[in-house]
Amino acid sequence: MEKHYDYLLVGAGLFNGVVAHEAAKRGKKCLVIEKRDVLGGNIYCKEVEGIMVHEYGAHIFHTSNEEVWDYVTDLVEFNHYINSPVANYHGEIYNLPFNMNTFSKMWNISTPEEARKIIEEQKSVIKKDPENLEEQAISLVGTDVYEKLIKGYTMKQWGRECKDLPASIIKRIPVRYIYDNNYFNDPHQGIPKGGYNELIEKLYDGCDVILETDFLSDKEKYTSMADHVVYTGTIDAYFDYCYGKLEYRSLHFEHELLNEYNHQGVAVMNYTDSETPFTRKIEHKHFAFGTQEKTVVTREYPAEWEDGMEPYYPVNDEKNSTLYERYKELGEKEEKVLFGGRLGEYKYYDMDKVIESALNFVKQYL
Ligand SMILES: Cc1cc2nc3c(=O)[nH]c(=O)nc-3n(C[C@H](O)[C@H](O)[C@H](O)COP(=O)(O)OP(=O)(O)OC[C@H]3O[C@@H](n4cnc5c(N)ncnc54)[C@H](O)[C@@H]3O)c2cc1C
Repeated sequence: MEKHYDYLLVGAGLFNGVVAHEAAKRGKKCLVIEKRDVLGGNIYCKEVEGIMVHEYGAHIFHTSNEEVWDYVTDLVEFNHYINSPVANYHGEIYNLPFNMNTFSKMWNISTPEEARKIIEEQKSVIKKDPENLEEQAISLVGTDVYEKLIKGYTMKQWGRECKDLPASIIKRIPVRYIYDNNYFNDPHQGIPKGGYNELIEKLYDGCDVILETDFLSDKEKYTSMADHVVYTGTIDAYFDYCYGKLEYRSLHFEHELLNEYNHQGVAVMNYTDSETPFTRKIEHKHFAFGTQEKTVVTREYPAEWEDGMEPYYPVNDEKNSTLYERYKELGEKEEKVLFGGRLGEYKYYDMDKVIESALNFVKQYL
């Protein structure tokens, strides 16, 4: 007779990892079904020449939630990586986020007062309410920062000129009048010393796992194998797109192993000119202070999402949010199936937020 489980977990990302770990603590039996040939969802890393390569996009853990930080650090040890990306504009290098190091390089100045004066002067060229993203950005940070560090990058991300994008895309642009290149404001940040895979292995420890299997290929059969189902795939696919398809933004990654020790001197370099076709280049070893002989870099290209591509980011505009609400209502009527995670809830979650959400889910349902 086929084994029966308390929980069938569809998708082996971070959300279900927390559910699996908490279920195991409570003596529950879980079966995991994952489409890909590895566990981990988008935080999975592939080891190449001793370097942990973030296959599905660079992942930096950061949080201000003490419960979440305690949770992850109980499981694995984190290094002291601090994200300090740099911008490359036609070979000119600027620190990010916009701070006194950026302004000092841009205008050869040294004091916050000088920087503030220049920015205020440049902002004042916008005299009316901004009508598009270009005017909005200039009204927030002035013309130089916009031209060199925002315009090309944003255009590549959205595939349209900033003049043709709505002002509402950018609500605020953080500007720091201190010399501080730490990208995040959260008190906790880092990368697991053993890589994200170690975290994933610990979370899924004790579960039965079926890889390279699409739950939707035989929904009824798999559903019958457990008392409850926690589904973290796309919610519109679960309901066979009965109300139409939700939209996503995708990315295309080009990984390359280089016979160099140190290619760019930083983990994350944003290419902010419009001529370079990719938006970012990641050098993975720097996330872990690697000393390997070789290095792996990844060029990240924005991509229009089409069927069959990885749905990386939900598009939380009005049209898609309304459509999602209809699917959510259908989801609430399901007896055995609960929906969670980035794709199941059609919501952009950072890792800490997805853990927080999974812990709340556990409190409510387990
Ligand atoms: C490019 C990128 C960069 C990011 N960078 C950061 C960062 O720097 N810091 C940060 O905190 N967060 C970052 N995030 C967010 C982070 O990836 C998510 O918070 C987290 O991975 C979400 O976990 P999840 O379990 O909800 O979803 P996922 O990781 O998407 O896992 C869902 C899993 O379900 C599987 N699946 C889907 N449908 C089916 C099916 N029908 N049958 C079987 N399996 C199925 C998928 O293959 C996938 O493995 C980033 C996300 C992206 C896309």
